[in-house]
Amino acid sequence: STPVVPTLSEITLAEPRGFCAGVDRAIEIVERALQKFGAPIYVRHEIVHNTYVVNDLKQKGAIFIEELDDVPPGATLVFSAHGVSRAVQDEARARGFSIFDATCPLVTKVHVEVAKLAKEGFEFIMIGHKGHPEVEGTMGQLDSGIHLVEDVADVARVQPAQTDKLAVVTQTTLSVDDAAEIAEAVRQRFPKVREPKQQDICYATQNRQDAVKVLSPQVDIVIVVGSPTSSNSNRLRELAQKLGTESHMVDNADELQAAWFEGKSRVGLTAGASAPEVLVNQVIERIRAYGAVSVRKMNGIEETLKFPLPKGLRIEPQA
Ligand code: SF4
Repeated sequence: STPVVPTLSEITLAEPRGFCAGVDRAIEIVERALQKFGAPIYVRHEIVHNTYVVNDLKQKGAIFIEELDDVPPGATLVFSAHGVSRAVQDEARARGFSIFDATCPLVTKVHVEVAKLAKEGFEFIMIGHKGHPEVEGTMGQLDSGIHLVEDVADVARVQPAQTDKLAVVTQTTLSVDDAAEIAEAVRQRFPKVREPKQQDICYATQNRQDAVKVLSPQVDIVIVVGSPTSSNSNRLRELAQKLGTESHMVDNADELQAAWFEGKSRVGLTAGASAPEVLVNQVIERIRAYGAVSVRKMNGIEETLKFPLPKGLRIEPQA
């Protein structure tokens, strides 16, 4: 039976939280491809970093692969929201797959900027997390000339071939504050460095972190719904923790532990950009079962951005 935590009173929902426009679009691309062309649809890498979403699409007939070798000839292939390198793009095309690109348009924007500046002779400092597929995709837009820095210490070590034409690019899902600190270190070491007009960290990452900054001081504990591989979800948990509020990330309601809530009254709840609302609702139900009596929504900005689907997957007007 569910343990009861008598101190619990209220759940406050962060606003905004959960799905962003890029995730919405990526999932819809796989679902529409399944409807239109039938199973199986191959997807390179987890379409978005969420266990529930991936399992749900698997059940509907999606097959997730990391290597193009595992895709049979003539298959339909979807690139994940994180984007892919030029090498992967070229190879997929050469193998003749029918390709739908679910790369978030805000990641593509970074790819386009890299290609444009590279033509002008720029080298790049990329702020990001080593091994993350988005970083591999962005760095893989060029054969060379993109130097990854993960923290301020890396900035001191990085060795570009020249410093006249250097530009900064970042992963879209970083900690806004950490990225600003690293960018400042880059500026100090390379005063001529070119920075993006609008930061590469996306609106969804920024808004979810801003919401956690408002939420954290109002609550005794922050729960983040997100998968371990989700960069932006991890950043939300870290941020709440940094602001002095105990915080835990869970992939689903079953990962909640009653002991976390003992002696606490107000629970803050948010979700990463790849975490579906159905999981948030299950977490709410579980915390209610522990004893929380009310749920309120924090005030926050409303997101209305929506990205168009690729050609070939749009709904045609009904005749
Ligand atoms: Fe696009 Fe940002 Fe969502 Fe990533 S988190 S899919 S960059 S909107």
